Amino acid sequence: MGLGPGELESERVTRVLRDDIVLGRRLPNSRLVERDLAAELSVSRLPVREAIRRLNVEGIVLSRPRTWAVVRDFTAHDVRELGVVRIAIENAAFAVAAENWEPDGLAGVAALLEEEETAAESGDVVQTNLTSGRFHRAVIELSVNQMITEVMSVFETRFRRAFGRNADLGAHIGAHRAIIEALAERDAARVCELNRAHLQAACDEAVMLWDEGATTAG
Ligand SMILES: [Zn+2]
Repeated sequence: MGLGPGELESERVTRVLRDDIVLGRRLPNSRLVERDLAAELSVSRLPVREAIRRLNVEGIVLSRPRTWAVVRDFTAHDVRELGVVRIAIENAAFAVAAENWEPDGLAGVAALLEEEETAAESGDVVQTNLTSGRFHRAVIELSVNQMITEVMSVFETRFRRAFGRNADLGAHIGAHRAIIEALAERDAARVCELNRAHLQAACDEAVMLWDEGATTAG
């Protein structure tokens, strides 16, 4: 038995747990116990241990002694701080993207916007928000800057956790359309101006939802 299959299995377990946490299916402070998760996901404990380690690095799980961990809780203050970091990094990436995009890449971004619109029209909020996240990542990739990609990878999962659920889908999609138009004109200043306003609105909305969530959770 090579390492390949085990490696793939740990990636699958990581993805399942990551999506559960990001989408709020596993609640903050809930326990992640190796033995229980292994039984639940029908795998051995090793890939579960690796997934927990990975999600700890990605900033959404806190390790506890021995064989368990908890889903990290974020406060509204944490979300606000993440918003500041997101605007700084993403706007730097979007400015470089405006200069560096290739036609295939920009076409891919436009295709994601269409996908996002279709999902919104069919009322699929989860799919719309997932596609929206892919849109942002695709624009960042247009920058073709390895260092930006590395910095983003440190924060990406936390950004998804904090900002992955937009309530006003119409406004969000409208902003994406305007950003694509400015990208097409290689107008980096306009792209940054639009994206800064877009991300600030998303951050304010997330902080508000976070406060409400904290209230209902008691
Ligand atoms: Zn967006």
